[in-house]
Amino acid sequence: MRYAILSDIHANLEALTAVLEDISAQRIDRVLCLGDSVGYGADPTACLARLEGARALSVCGNHEWGCVGKLDIRWFSEAAGRAIEWTRDQLSFTELDALRRLPLTATEGPLTLVHGTLTHPDRFDYLIEIGQGLDSARSCRTVVCAVGHTHVPFVLEVDRRERQVRRLLTAAQELSEVRLTDDAERVRYLLNPGSVGQPRDGDPRASYAILDAADHGVGIRRIPYDIERAQAKIRHAGLPGLLADRLGVGR
Ligand code: ZN
Repeated sequence: MRYAILSDIHANLEALTAVLEDISAQRIDRVLCLGDSVGYGADPTACLARLEGARALSVCGNHEWGCVGKLDIRWFSEAAGRAIEWTRDQLSFTELDALRRLPLTATEGPLTLVHGTLTHPDRFDYLIEIGQGLDSARSCRTVVCAVGHTHVPFVLEVDRRERQVRRLLTAAQELSEVRLTDDAERVRYLLNPGSVGQPRDGDPRASYAILDAADHGVGIRRIPYDIERAQAKIRHAGLPGLLADRLGVGR
C-alpha cells in the first residue's frame, strides 16, 4: 500500500489541486488527511469536495473544531478567529455537520493519524519538543504516528523501549527519501508531512508525504503551485491580508 499523507490544507484550493495532481502520478492507494483542511484560505467548500472526491480518511484539526463551535474562538489568534468566522459563513449545514463528525484520531494500516499530539488529541498542542514526541510514540500502537499542526515537516525515530531518540530529520534533502526500520516491537516514528496550504518552514511550495508500506520508504514532496492566485482570492474575500502575504514566504 502506498499512502499520501496531507495536512493543514487550510482552504488553499490551488495548493491542494497541485498536490492531488502529483498524487495521481504516484500510484497512491489511499489519501489520508491530518486536519485543518479549512480556515485561513478562500476555498473551504471546494477543498472539502476535493477531499471527498479523493475518498480521503480525515481526522479533525483545531480549525474544524473552531468552525463547529467545539473550540472557543478566543483560543485562536485574531486573524485565525476572523478566518474561522468567515469560513463558518461559507459552509453549508451538511458540510459543518461532516466537520463535526470527524474523529480526533484514526488508524489506517501502519499509521495512526492525529492533528496535534497523541497524548492529548483534543488539546491541539504543537508537537515541537522531543519529550512530546516520545510521549506520543509511547501511546502509539502502530509503527508510524502522523501529526500535523506545526506546518513544518520532520521525521522522528524513537526507540520505544529505551525511550530515546534515534534520529530526527528536518532538512529537506534528508526528508526527500527516508528508509524506516522494520522493527515494530522496538521502533516508532513520528511523521509530520508539513502543510499543503500554508507552509511555515521557509519553503512556500506545498508539502505532503508519501509512505510506502511495502518498502518502508517515506518521502516528503514539495509541489509548486499558483501562489499568487491563492493570495488574490484571500484578499478578494476580505480575509486578513497577512494570511495572503505569508503564503509568498512560507512562514
Ligand atoms: Zn494548521
